[in-house]
Amino acid sequence: MAYDFDLYVIGAGSGGVRAARFAAGFGAKVAVAESRYLGGTCVNVGCVPKKLLVYGAHFAEDFEQASGFGWGLDEAQFDWPTLIANKDREINRLNGIYRNLLVNSGVTLHEGHAKIVDPHQVEINGERFTAKNILIATGGWPQIPEIPGHEHAISSNQAFFLKELPKRVLVVGGGYIAVEFAGIFHGLGAKTTLLYRGELFLRGFDGSVRKHLQEELTKRGMDLQFNADIERIEKQADGSLKVTLKDGFQLEADCVFYATGRRPMLDNLGLENTGVKLDKKGFVEVDELYQTAEPSILALGDVIGRVQLTPVALAEGMAVARRLFKPEQYRPVDYKMIPTAVFSLPNIGTVGLTEEEAREAGHEVQIFESRFRPMKLTLTECQERTLMKLVVDARTDKVLGCHMVGPDAGEIVQGLAIALKAGATKRDFDETIGVHPTAAEEFVTMRTPVAG
Ligand code: FAD
Ligand code: NDP
Repeated sequence: MAYDFDLYVIGAGSGGVRAARFAAGFGAKVAVAESRYLGGTCVNVGCVPKKLLVYGAHFAEDFEQASGFGWGLDEAQFDWPTLIANKDREINRLNGIYRNLLVNSGVTLHEGHAKIVDPHQVEINGERFTAKNILIATGGWPQIPEIPGHEHAISSNQAFFLKELPKRVLVVGGGYIAVEFAGIFHGLGAKTTLLYRGELFLRGFDGSVRKHLQEELTKRGMDLQFNADIERIEKQADGSLKVTLKDGFQLEADCVFYATGRRPMLDNLGLENTGVKLDKKGFVEVDELYQTAEPSILALGDVIGRVQLTPVALAEGMAVARRLFKPEQYRPVDYKMIPTAVFSLPNIGTVGLTEEEAREAGHEVQIFESRFRPMKLTLTECQERTLMKLVVDARTDKVLGCHMVGPDAGEIVQGLAIALKAGATKRDFDETIGVHPTAAEEFVTMRTPVAG
């Protein structure tokens, strides 16, 4: 049977765009549907605008520290609407770049909500198109627990478009988004409380990293409340929000921001017209080739709920395009040693196993740790300290994990990830000449283990 398209991609986000462009480049006839914004979550309400706001927040410390270097500044002024307007302009520019990328690579762009009507057919804007394969790349959506008053809370989707910077913000959650946005609000001058239901935020990160960030945020004056959960939120006559915790304690805020995870975006997608199955958490179930239970339908990125990071969605998009249209170049995505950063202030950068994971996996570990005051701060009052940590297998000498909390941790860990992927040993680290004077050189000068 002749189909309208070889591949119909639903979702022009990180994974969908990558798969569509490369598939078209390999000679396939490709369409991509997008209902909201070109570039998806990352470009519009994720990585990119978030990082711009983090840069914005960082200026607060830069101004403070500048006086140690002889700079005299009048009192610094911050204007939220300017930051948001400039951010919006940049995102508009990126939307245009994504449009050109798709169109110039020969992909047909359909703007609207796509619904699957049968395993080979998609409906969009009242028109139907057939395709040999359909790729679900619809991403995720913030999930706010349905506590009484949840309608007064916002998620990251709204945070990027607030008309003004709230004076008092309550951030709920202890994952990437909560920690990053708490840093943004606090840095920009809002009185910020981070409220997390567990003992310590960033579950799954290395224990030393979690503790170190807790200490640094506390030093900066952020209010961290752990073992705390909201029972209800009430709007008061003056527009502010009264928040009652499960233990009865009450707090007031002008904005309650929930960052309690993301669900797969499957709304009105028509999966009931297919044999696609969902996993226990509701994400689309796929095998190692991104194949769903319906032979003609594939899925990738956040909607499959594996690793919700843009570079992972990109790698999966590449793998799908190659698998379908350039099988001789197919290489499976390697999910080991994925480096990641949390753009908190200070940043976290991490790659490989945490100390806890390494021990649990049965490794006999050697731990190397260094804590120091960054050189840039020595002429300032700032008491911030950087943490660097190496987790090493004592038997093979292989470096299993690198972890850092400090300025530019994400930038530094990207390079270390290549070393770890190549199987570097601690001896390789030791024999590498440092770059002086940098913070990064500490990773090649740690000589004495702190724990075995
Ligand atoms: P998405 O990028 O979400 O794209 C899905 C697209 O599908 C969307 O554009 C959506 O509108 C469209 N769509 C959905 N349903 C339909 C339909 N039925 N018809 C047509 N179109 C549809 N990752 C990092 O690596 N680094 C970061 O710093 C980072 N920061 C983040 C910050 C925030 C606040 C958030 C929310 C996420 C962040 N992420 C970050 C995660 C990253 O954004 C995602 O992992 C990535 O965008 C996933 O790509 P995707 O292609 O799976 O989906
Ligand atoms: P995460 O899954 O990272 O964190 C969710 C947090 O919310 C956890 O601390 C979790 O607690 C808590 N939580 C979950 N449900 C509830 C509830 N019902 N009540 C109270 N707390 C709850 O999700 P995020 O929303 O922060 O981010 C989604 C994903 O986006 C991330 O996992 C990451 O993959 C990606 N991302 C990446 C970024 C980066 O690369 N820098 C930045 C932002 C997002 P508990 O730990 O107890 O389960």
